[in-house]
Amino acid sequence: MRQPKYLPMTREEMNRLGWDELDVLLISGDAYLDSHIHGAAVLGRWLVEHGFRTGIVAQPDWRSPESLLPMGRPRIMAGVTAGALDSLVAHYTAFRKKRSDDAYSPGGRAGLRPNRASLAYTGLARRAFPGLPVILGGVEASMRRATHYDFWDNGLRRSALLDAKADVLLYGMAERSFLAMARLFSRDQARRRAAEAVARERPPGSAYAVSPGSEPAGAENLPSHEAIAKDPSLLVKTALAFERQMLRGGPAMIQRSAGRTMVFEPPEAPLSTGEMDRVYALPFTRKAHPSYTEPIPVEEMGKDSVVSHRGCAGGCSFCSIALHQGRSIQSRSEQSIRDEIRSLASDPAWKGSISDIGGPSANMWNASCAADRSACARHSCLFPKRCRHFRHAQNEQVAMLRDLAKIPGVKHVRIASGVRHDLALASDGYMRALAGEFTGGQLKIAPEHVTERILTLMRKPGGRGLDEFIGKFTAYSAGAGKEQYLIPYLMSAFPGTTDDDMRNLHSWLRKHRMRPQQVQCFIPTPGTVASAMFFAEVDGEGNPIPVARTDAQRLRQHRLLVPDPAPARGRPEGRFDRRSPGGERRDRPPRRVPRGKPPRGEGRGWPPRRGDSGRSPRDGRGFSGGMPGGGPPGGRKGGDRA
Ligand code: SF4
Repeated sequence: MRQPKYLPMTREEMNRLGWDELDVLLISGDAYLDSHIHGAAVLGRWLVEHGFRTGIVAQPDWRSPESLLPMGRPRIMAGVTAGALDSLVAHYTAFRKKRSDDAYSPGGRAGLRPNRASLAYTGLARRAFPGLPVILGGVEASMRRATHYDFWDNGLRRSALLDAKADVLLYGMAERSFLAMARLFSRDQARRRAAEAVARERPPGSAYAVSPGSEPAGAENLPSHEAIAKDPSLLVKTALAFERQMLRGGPAMIQRSAGRTMVFEPPEAPLSTGEMDRVYALPFTRKAHPSYTEPIPVEEMGKDSVVSHRGCAGGCSFCSIALHQGRSIQSRSEQSIRDEIRSLASDPAWKGSISDIGGPSANMWNASCAADRSACARHSCLFPKRCRHFRHAQNEQVAMLRDLAKIPGVKHVRIASGVRHDLALASDGYMRALAGEFTGGQLKIAPEHVTERILTLMRKPGGRGLDEFIGKFTAYSAGAGKEQYLIPYLMSAFPGTTDDDMRNLHSWLRKHRMRPQQVQCFIPTPGTVASAMFFAEVDGEGNPIPVARTDAQRLRQHRLLVPDPAPARGRPEGRFDRRSPGGERRDRPPRRVPRGKPPRGEGRGWPPRRGDSGRSPRDGRGFSGGMPGGGPPGGRKGGDRA
């Protein structure tokens, strides 16, 4: 089937393509940007590539089923995603204030998708298309696939599948599993009894519900939702089990919840280089659908960036990448990357600069594991020190970047963010090239903290490595005659952090004459090990840890590093709240956010700081997520941090 210029959003576009009906309708919480950074666009084009007529309804009115009807009822199925971010991360700041803008919406306007968009859109699809299979995916569903802590409710929630009542939930990037669903539901019989067909087929990368007693044989038992409610430390064990399954595969896992049993099949196999090349060779225009009259901010952020790989071997405990894209690195070939850049350079309007090239991490292209992953017991390939089986290819990456810089029309190839600094030190050639050739004045790095105890909880490198990186970067920059700066990303209020730890971090910054420009107050996003630690107030081994839990405690830690930018009513800058010596006046249980309401635009702080799952959105790829399991494929580091 011929690829359309854009996936259709209207009946007129379908007519122009000669499509009398759609096979698959995608429902997305983000505006339709026809780009590799928009998961719905990737999976939509992927399905077209395999012969399925696929259209998109972006940011529909969630109160009206008619908003899904412009292209009629699809023949096979509907796929639902909240968008590139969890909708609550998109709508609220770390202190639960509503954000006033949204980088994934036209005009940057907030309020164009509902809270818990996965649930709202699934209900909408059920009402618009009774009896049609509905597939739930994207980062919101992926990270909420089992019982999880919900920061905005300040409580446990069961699997999003059970709340949304979709037929199946696909986690991860989902090219294989979404295609498998389209093929499965092409059959009339499977379509009529969708949930049963899924339970029979057991597609990798899927989660679905069965009645107790119908669980697959040999499945690993996870603590039930009710057991976790009684003993929060079981949530940490559950999150660790999902990390293991994502890396090692193995048997299905099951979790009982309110009279149902959730089944989690092992993840789909990583894409081969050939498959990655095929995905990224899809003819994205890199532009918003022409129906939009206002710019979509993320289009600008991602237009000059190139994804070289997916996955991150780092396994940071707060990051969604390990649970969504996985720790296995899936890389494109050099030829595929070169073809993409040649295509960019063929546009006379292109300015000649690749603003950022990489994946969730910048320096893991073509990295691999030389051992048997299915037997791996580690949480990270790099922490506490690099695994002896981990193979990096940083020297080859430098050679590739130099070749890419020689493509006619290319003026600069930059790495702007995502450098895993401990890994960079493994190759002096990489360090020299990074500072001397591929940094454009500023480089963002993510030490997050400097206290060893906190770094251990984060699974982040620390110690002398960071100082060594700073020293080498500075020396090689000077050697190349360049004045360049490192922008450190730091985190406050991570579980286990005390006020003294923040003061320690402040001292370190002063010692290195760095200003804390990028400090993120930890947001316990659903599904991660760190969020489970926040909820349970224990570390991965079950030992108690201090947790800044209330908004006031969290803000106080934050203010130890970042003075209040807008002192209220004459309050001295840098102080949290003068009216109470401990700053505890607002120290009360966290508020719940209203259900089903869109943000009203009184917030601040968009876009979420960082790219990945976050997702600066360092370049729009910062966050993983998107269509069933998709998301900015190759989304940049950071998970759902915001
Ligand atoms: S064996 Fe080592 S390199 Fe392989 S997945 Fe495990 S930690 Fe990573």
